[in-house]
Amino acid sequence: MENAEVFYLAKIGEINLKKGNLKEFERRLAQNFRAYFSGKVPNVQVRAGRMYVRADAELAAHIEAALAHLIGITGWAQVQTADKTLEAMTAAAVEEARALYAAGKRTFKIEARRADKKFPLTSYDLAREIGGTIHTQGILTVDVHKPDAVISVEVREQLAFIYGVEHRGQRGLPCGCSGRALLLLSGGIDSPVAGYRMLFRGMKVDYIYFHSHPYTSPEAQQKVEDLAGVLARYGLGGYITVISFTKVQQHLKRTVPEAYLTLLLRMCMMKTAEMLARKINAQCLVTGESLAQVASQTIENLTITDSCAQLPILRPLIGMDKEEIIQTALDIGTYQTSILPYEDCCVLFSPRHPVLHTKQQDAEDIFSRIEIDQLLAEAFEQRETKKIEWALPVPAAD
Ligand code: ATP
Ligand code: MG
Repeated sequence: MENAEVFYLAKIGEINLKKGNLKEFERRLAQNFRAYFSGKVPNVQVRAGRMYVRADAELAAHIEAALAHLIGITGWAQVQTADKTLEAMTAAAVEEARALYAAGKRTFKIEARRADKKFPLTSYDLAREIGGTIHTQGILTVDVHKPDAVISVEVREQLAFIYGVEHRGQRGLPCGCSGRALLLLSGGIDSPVAGYRMLFRGMKVDYIYFHSHPYTSPEAQQKVEDLAGVLARYGLGGYITVISFTKVQQHLKRTVPEAYLTLLLRMCMMKTAEMLARKINAQCLVTGESLAQVASQTIENLTITDSCAQLPILRPLIGMDKEEIIQTALDIGTYQTSILPYEDCCVLFSPRHPVLHTKQQDAEDIFSRIEIDQLLAEAFEQRETKKIEWALPVPAAD
């Protein structure tokens, strides 16, 4: 017996606007989609604002998980294909209408699109003919203003595509078309969201995490690696570099006035992260900082950490409040991991009354007085880099 096939159609969003680079964006999108598969890979074509996917039915759940995570599409649907005759298209639309009725929908409208302008019926004619049949058969009732469901009919070059359920896509730009970033990833709520925002703008992201064993636990590190694993579902993998900052923290604790500890630690992180960024050709650093969220994130203190790196430091959450950040963390699936109780820093190193409005000169004076460059270089030399382990959450077939 021949294997049954499934068809999907995804809509391409903003990349349509980038006329000059359209071909490159399209190529990247198809390549990113294929990267979700090993072994059996679906057939993918990108053309005229649409991505077409065709595969064995056994891949359906995997394809749906991939489409739900793929950055660069505004929506997607499992579709029926039909010959370009009114009869065939109507039969498929009737089937969609029955499925919608079974799912509790009662009213509908048809949205017809005719990419093939040689097709004899206009979009309007198609909608009226097909909608009329469904209506008179008593399956669903037409409501063009506030329908429970929309049945889409797209007449393309070779075939027509018919679908009644459309899912929202991730939107954004295909990962890999806007350069490379290095994200400072902690176990908190914010930095994973910051990483997602840059993936969303098409960057390829790698990750760096600073631990202080034994002051921070192995569970805290595992949590960060798990968060990188969730981000990798959108960014299609990546590398995480783990650096021990134990000696750096101890040195800071001995030499820096308590109120300056957090700020000096952030300065050390930026300098070390930049060493890695240069090595891996990342073009910017990314953090989860948001203006005035905590003491180290006042404009004065951000200015100071900024001056620690020559590369730009991007802070995509700078103007967001905690509620919005949490909503995104929930949407992308990092929140539940972020709120696990393992801390990525130790109270021992957290000042009770941190400086809020530090003078740049004061911070720089302390930094040069404590002679920490050698320790940072050593910490960097002993870094450990690994490939992120990740998998799409594919529901088991029943
Ligand atoms: P998050 O929720 O991301 O932990 P936060 O609100 O706790 O952020 P801070 O602890 O001040 O804020 O950290 C600010 C930023 O510095 C983080 O968003 C992250 O980018 C970076 N950072 C902090 N700690 C670490 C760490 N141990 N390893 C790597 N980056 C870190
Ligand atoms: Mg934190």
